Amino acid sequence: MAETIAVLPGDGIGPEVTHAAAAILRFVRPDVRCVEGLAGAVALERGLGALPDETRSLCDRSAAILFGSVGHPDYDGKPLSERPEFALFLLRRDYELFANLRPVRVFPGLEDESTLKPDLVRGLDLVVVRELTGGIYYGTPKEQRCIDGVDEAVDTMIYRAPEVERIARVAFELARTRKKRLTSVDKQNILETSRLWRRVVERVGLDYRDVSCEHLLVDNAAMQLVRRPGHFDVIVTENMFGDILSDEAAILTGSIGTLPSASLGTRGTPGKQFGLYEPVGGTAPDIAGRNVANPTAAILSAAMLLRHSLADDANATRIERAVEETYAAGARTAEFVHDASTALSTTAFADAVAARL
Ligand code: NAD
Repeated sequence: MAETIAVLPGDGIGPEVTHAAAAILRFVRPDVRCVEGLAGAVALERGLGALPDETRSLCDRSAAILFGSVGHPDYDGKPLSERPEFALFLLRRDYELFANLRPVRVFPGLEDESTLKPDLVRGLDLVVVRELTGGIYYGTPKEQRCIDGVDEAVDTMIYRAPEVERIARVAFELARTRKKRLTSVDKQNILETSRLWRRVVERVGLDYRDVSCEHLLVDNAAMQLVRRPGHFDVIVTENMFGDILSDEAAILTGSIGTLPSASLGTRGTPGKQFGLYEPVGGTAPDIAGRNVANPTAAILSAAMLLRHSLADDANATRIERAVEETYAAGARTAEFVHDASTALSTTAFADAVAARL
């Protein structure tokens, strides 16, 4: 039976880049059924919730979700449950998408676009594995309150050993398919959760003796990422540290428009896992609707979908090579060029990738 993929383009540049990525997905896998659903501001505008029931049931019967991005300035300041971003919050929570994989690659020819010296980022290829459903973003109590006339606020950082173990296993497994080098990032000199984190990662490491595992404190990791980024292969860390470090790693490439991500859950088996695949960037309201956004992140997210949810490594690698060749041939979208007349549009860049498949 044909696999169904839920395609949720969302808002802003989401539809432009997601349609480009879905076309490439359908090109390499004509057997896959891509079914579109509403999520984000585009759903709210129709008087529905950010994640309508129909979209949720589409996701329920799909092998994976190809997601664009959600968010619109009109909703700034509203409570989370009334904002477009609530769609993503619900999907991550309800499908328990605990493992966020963010590959960071600098394609040959793009070294000069990085804010670091070209020699430092040449050939850069690392993955940040971020725990996505635990830690300080979800722990309770989490509130603002007034005690004895003084305002205060509390967030709670909590991790249970099984939560650390499952993300550690994802990272060790991934490291095994790469250079067999894992860096676990924590703050064990201060935080109890980090001491638990390090203990569990070390215990899991006993099952992966072929993978070398080092531990870095988060402040040092932040420094080393810009000092010698080439040192890293797979980095695993908890939710908040991962949020910050993965954005830091993202700027190494020079454009957020090149960075894909996968969020994997508990459903399925390795290679056939249910997951949500999306660009790291947002809806980019400043360039939306002009066919100038870089579709690379969305196209590479589709490649990750093939690899992790459809067990199709061959086509995933094929797409990644086509993107690499497209950059090597000099194709560039607007954010990379000074003279706008030389830039390729979203659709022209996607066509250039498709032509190399
Ligand atoms: P953003 O990532 O949308 O934009 C930041 C900058 O990067 C902008 O200058 C934008 O033009 C540029 N950019 C982003 N993607 C690009 C691409 N593919 N090609 C070329 N340039 C690109 O971040 P923001 O401005 O902070 O957020 C805008 C909206 O997106 C907000 O409503 C925010 O909540 C939402 N958002 C959604 C997600 C998501 O859906 N996962 C993630 C981040 C932000």
